[in-house]
Amino acid sequence: MQGRIVKIISNDCTVLSDDKLYICKPRGKFRKDNLVPLVGDIVEFDEKNNYILEIKKRKNCLVRPPVSNIDQVVIITSVKDPDFSSNLLDKLLVVIEYNNIKPIICFTKLDLISKEMDNIIDYYKKIGYDVYLNTEVDKIKKIFKDKLTVFTGQSGAGKSTLLNKLDENLNLKTDEISYALGRGKHTTRHVELLDLYGGLVADTPGFSAIDLKELSDIQIKDAFIEFENNCKYRDCMHINEDGCEVLKRLNNDILPSRYENYVKFLRRK
Ligand code: ZN
Repeated sequence: MQGRIVKIISNDCTVLSDDKLYICKPRGKFRKDNLVPLVGDIVEFDEKNNYILEIKKRKNCLVRPPVSNIDQVVIITSVKDPDFSSNLLDKLLVVIEYNNIKPIICFTKLDLISKEMDNIIDYYKKIGYDVYLNTEVDKIKKIFKDKLTVFTGQSGAGKSTLLNKLDENLNLKTDEISYALGRGKHTTRHVELLDLYGGLVADTPGFSAIDLKELSDIQIKDAFIEFENNCKYRDCMHINEDGCEVLKRLNNDILPSRYENYVKFLRRK
């Protein structure tokens, strides 16, 4: 049978298949092959003997938190208090794009919105991202069906508030702090996938470590999805090349903060 691992405690993998849960052990040969089952894995399993027979190829896989086959990451982004950080948002977008995951941006604390912020929100929509405001709870409820979702965003950005609005029974451990404490010596932090509107959501904040050092310049460039549509030169890095359309369109079609972050990220700052 085929199913998905939704929880792992020591060697017991809980596999969800057709709305039923099976507790299975990984086969010994996985260890030989250096294969460690991860929450999110799609597996072939023997439901009579409770063994995982095969781990299907992962479409992506994070180390922290350890979750695989993530469909989408919801980036909770505060417009004020804490102040909007274009640097953090763009950095998360780069890492999420690089990991082959669909980013979804959700802006919070909108009672404090300014005209400038309005333009920024419109820009992220215009370049092709799914953007929601945290007041659009009914719309947000529809994004989870048949998807594995991870939430991320800076602490204090209103993650808990949004999640409570979505489902007050959902007990996600969303704080970076609780994540860090959970990894202390007395407790082992387990990631678990929970039901949310016909999909699954990881009960852990995404991307506790963001490091651009492992990315090449090209990978960073490719993660700025609007550059390719603006500049027709495929090899252009959009730094000082003659005829670069990205440079020409800065301030008009390209948001200056996006470009500034791009240059910073290339310097790995
Ligand atoms: Zn260019």
